[in-house]
Amino acid sequence: MKKFDYVKPKTLAEASAFMVEHDDKARLYAGGTDMLILMRGGFIAPQYIVDIKEIPGLQDISFDETAGLTIGAAATLNAVASSPIIRQRFGLLAEAAETVGSYQVRNRATIGGNICNASPSADTVPALLVLGAMAWVFGSGEQKAIPLDTFFTGPGETVLGPGDILTSIQVSLPPAGHAYRYLKLGRVRAADLALVGVAVLGFPQAGNPSGYGFRIALGAVAPTAIRAPEAEVVLAESVDDEAIGKAALAAVRTAKPISDVRASAEYRSAMVGALTRRGIKEVLEDLRGP
Ligand SMILES: Cc1cc2nc3c(=O)[nH]c(=O)nc-3n(C[C@H](O)[C@H](O)[C@H](O)COP(=O)(O)OP(=O)(O)OC[C@H]3O[C@@H](n4cnc5c(N)ncnc54)[C@H](O)[C@@H]3O)c2cc1C
Repeated sequence: MKKFDYVKPKTLAEASAFMVEHDDKARLYAGGTDMLILMRGGFIAPQYIVDIKEIPGLQDISFDETAGLTIGAAATLNAVASSPIIRQRFGLLAEAAETVGSYQVRNRATIGGNICNASPSADTVPALLVLGAMAWVFGSGEQKAIPLDTFFTGPGETVLGPGDILTSIQVSLPPAGHAYRYLKLGRVRAADLALVGVAVLGFPQAGNPSGYGFRIALGAVAPTAIRAPEAEVVLAESVDDEAIGKAALAAVRTAKPISDVRASAEYRSAMVGALTRRGIKEVLEDLRGP
């Protein structure tokens, strides 16, 4: 690995200013579980690593009934998955965080790194998309809010500019009576990236002919994680078996998978259909109760 200087700013302003000054020579560093792999492989060779983990507040997880949940960007995925408030009221996010790598990886890996690495297969992102998450970003001396569904511009790419630092993720409470699933397919059961990830959130919605509202997001089957709005519209009308089949097909149409070393595009498409169908059925069972 090429030699680098390790920088540990004490404040967001300091970190941001350093990044602006050293732009393409410096790289923000949180848990390092994505970055160190790239550095060791020689894919990136930053001159400065800017460790932001211990900037005050960046690891905090807090909740209030109005603002909802706020997760500091440097909170580890184990902290997210084991947080009592997240498990109780944002269970989908805990479920998704828990599928990332191994316990050891999740002890280092942060939610901010998972988002900012912008991998199409990042497991927390489909969950955050159906939860309508907001990204809070510090840059140019101020905080700005960016809806997560406008945050990603392509594989490994985001709207963040030089000096921009993701500081937290904010999530409002999901609708009352909701149920959820995050279904992830990897090559092996443990510690593998998603070939396909499907997040399904369902809730009672009196105004819809079906009586339910659904939000569905797909990971690893397009340049960025995406919502599947056509499928959601089908389920607003009906949730009988035929409608569920149609919704699964609509999700397949929305996905734009590629073939790579992990799986072919055809297999990924088929799995989008299978996992979407299963996710909707399991969520409906939970919504209807025993
Ligand atoms: C063995 C192994 C298994 C894995 N399995 C999975 C898996 O199953 N699912 C999955 O989704 N991922 C997986 N990963 C990838 C990785 O662990 C996650 O993406 C992790 O959440 C990255 O977080 P980090 O803090 O380590 O990020 P880092 O490596 O520190 O940073 C990643 C990128 O984000 C940028 N960044 C970090 N924080 C910020 C911030 N606050 N603001 C702006 N930019 C920032 C960095 O500059 C860098 O470009 C795995 C990795 C390994 C090594």
